[in-house]
Amino acid sequence: MPVPLLDLSRQYEYLKPELDEAVIRVLTHGRFILGPEVAELEKKIASLCEVDYGLGVASGTDALLLALRACGVGPGDEVITTDFSFFATAGVIHRLGARPVFVDIEDDTYNIDPNLIESAITDKTKAIVPVHLFGQVADMDPIMKIAREHNLKVVEDAAQAIGSEYNGRKAGSIGDYGCFSFFPSKNLGAGGDGGMIVCSTEENYEACRYLRVHGARRKYYHDSVGYNSRLATIQAAILLVKLPHLRKWSQQRIEHARIYNEALAAMEGITTPFVSDNSTFHIYNQYTIAFEDRDSVQAALGEADIGNCIYYPVPFHRQPCFEYLGYEPKEFPVTNKACEEVLSIPIYPELTTAEQDQVIDTIRKAAG
Ligand SMILES: *Cc1c(COP(=O)(O)O)cnc(C)c1O
Repeated sequence: MPVPLLDLSRQYEYLKPELDEAVIRVLTHGRFILGPEVAELEKKIASLCEVDYGLGVASGTDALLLALRACGVGPGDEVITTDFSFFATAGVIHRLGARPVFVDIEDDTYNIDPNLIESAITDKTKAIVPVHLFGQVADMDPIMKIAREHNLKVVEDAAQAIGSEYNGRKAGSIGDYGCFSFFPSKNLGAGGDGGMIVCSTEENYEACRYLRVHGARRKYYHDSVGYNSRLATIQAAILLVKLPHLRKWSQQRIEHARIYNEALAAMEGITTPFVSDNSTFHIYNQYTIAFEDRDSVQAALGEADIGNCIYYPVPFHRQPCFEYLGYEPKEFPVTNKACEEVLSIPIYPELTTAEQDQVIDTIRKAAG
């Protein structure tokens, strides 16, 4: 029996009548751009994150782009971030004309190592972008302390971490801005691209709100050149149907993780995900194992038709497009090791016991 890495059709089957109704409702009322569902979702995501403001944008990438722009990041600035994330995290910094400055990661959580941030700060540094990788919040207390001491902005890349908690605080609510993605494979996924920025002050909210409508605070009057980046009303309507189920879905992921841990943690050559004490709610957007001999496990999973993926095979400092930054692989020993070892396996809420048993058996045979 093949086990896909992710099967979105199961979620659609589960919510079909409500989802169909929501899409038809928007087609009927016709307010496709910034319609009422967008405002409703903004309120609800802000409330989920325990902040005052939400701003729907076209993608998680744009959420990061607009939030960094609102922080004043531009040509000549430097922005510190992790070396190990999805491309968008670093891409947006470059696209604003700023220089991405990469920092190595912790060897257990795979999140940015706060101990290495201070030495990466220069007089050009404007902001820090911690990423909550795989659904576990980065170590925010030391990051916020460093940011305050050096007068830096913090934009949380919480694209993989909606609903996660750090010492009881919500992902996205700790820095100046929190950025979420509704890409279909995220824990709360739309029927296409979508994203949201959250923040807790009116000043921060106003600084990014007009950027999604071409930089116009008043229609057709442009204070600065912004973007066309709105969350589509149809996507907001779909997300409003799914949102009430998010907590339960996250708990189902946590339960799958528990079962994987129980079956695999004691095996030689396998490191199951580490959960830090600060991580009071880890939503497992991915369940990522480090294997001493990843190639043979990956081959066995492929043979058995079990979905798997390496997030991520190449760190930022070795991407051809960032060659101009002049980094050497020896500066990032932990990231480079992670890229050789990590493999993510199916963890979506609807995964059945039989499917999970098959994943476990296959890994046991290959790694044992
Ligand atoms: C998915 C993701 C993004 C980008 O989100 P999109 O909605 O695909 O643009 C950014 N950062 C991280 C860590 C992500 O996983």
